[in-house]
Amino acid sequence: MIPVKGYAAQSPTTDLAPWNFQRRDVGPHDVQFDIQFCGVCHSDLHQIKNDWFPGIFPMVPGHEIVGKVVKVGSAVKKFKVGDLAGTGCLVDSCRHCDNCKDDLEQYCTNGGSYTYNSTEQDHKTPTYGGYSNSIVVHEDFVLHISEKLDLAATAPLLCAGITTYSPLRHWKIGKGHKVAIVGLGGLGHMGVKFAAAFGAEVTVMSTSPSKEKDAKKLGAHHFLVTKDPEQVKAAANSFDFILDTVSAEHDVNMYMSMLKRDGTHCIVGLPSTAIPIQPFTVVGGRKSFAGSSIGGLKETQEMLDYCAEHNIVSDIEMIDIRDITKSFARMEKGDVRYRFVIDIATIK
Ligand code: NAP
Ligand code: ZN
Ligand code: ZN
Repeated sequence: MIPVKGYAAQSPTTDLAPWNFQRRDVGPHDVQFDIQFCGVCHSDLHQIKNDWFPGIFPMVPGHEIVGKVVKVGSAVKKFKVGDLAGTGCLVDSCRHCDNCKDDLEQYCTNGGSYTYNSTEQDHKTPTYGGYSNSIVVHEDFVLHISEKLDLAATAPLLCAGITTYSPLRHWKIGKGHKVAIVGLGGLGHMGVKFAAAFGAEVTVMSTSPSKEKDAKKLGAHHFLVTKDPEQVKAAANSFDFILDTVSAEHDVNMYMSMLKRDGTHCIVGLPSTAIPIQPFTVVGGRKSFAGSSIGGLKETQEMLDYCAEHNIVSDIEMIDIRDITKSFARMEKGDVRYRFVIDIATIK
């Protein structure tokens, strides 16, 4: 077994603290890489707090992981020692269900193996994430990271990036579309960059008027403050597609009033409570309410390659792991510009 240093929550009510654990030895198809940077996703906080379901503790969060390969198994073909590597939310899946066969492992009907707060495909062995200094992953679930991009700013692409790229591609967003991105946080700011890069006319819908300047710098054409009923009314029936990245309870009916006929409101945000929809919201205007989860391995690599080609990375604030509790508190207040990334060298 391989000794690893990490930070873990021992229970939903304790702060993250140093925790040493072991990873499996490198098997024939495994890649081991030393982690250099790990992004801080709002999902980390949801899961530590048991917002979605009772978690597996101790919990080492982190699924926006990048670093350098230090060891490869005898049968590994895609990586060699010294390569840059990344892992997102998935470390394995059943490989044979319809969704896995369609390269959509995130929808594995037999239960995918998530990077932490989950189990390996034996459905027993717990997985531990990227707030740690090394990881062992089957090569099929390791992504190639371009040397051209800033490595720390690339980490958030592994979750925030693919989670916004995938629905925008699925709904074929591009030139001629009016798109709104709701919530300018980690996911939201990547959504703005991709929607703008794909040629859409982009509006940021935010509760924070102070983010307007940043939104425009990120590529948005318009900015709408959702707390102002006049602005919401003026935007009625005007969007083809709304990508909703909000992490907390909010009234989607208000947002959907701004969709055009046949428009789609797609949630990627995962608040812990149910989302009530008034029948008139969807019936009037034949509107759709939809959702999307991260992306499969093939599409994640496609997104990373697209980012390398178009020079797209995340806007980050680097943190010392010892500031993780403070950073979670800031994230809960919507005070992230626009993704915290942990410098894993600060894990001693
Ligand atoms: P984040 O950085 O904290 O951003 C969330 C943003 O939502 C905030 O910056 C804020 O933007 C807005 N917001 C917060 N509370 C709000 C409220 N009550 N009403 C309206 N807007 C509010 O979080 P994130 O890391 O981007 O994650 C966002 C959500 O996506 C989380 O629930 C996370 O678990 C989920 N997620 C889902 C997937 C997936 O596969 N579907 C993947 C990753 C994350 P403004 O200040 O602009 O209003
Ligand atoms: Zn995430
Ligand atoms: Zn499957």
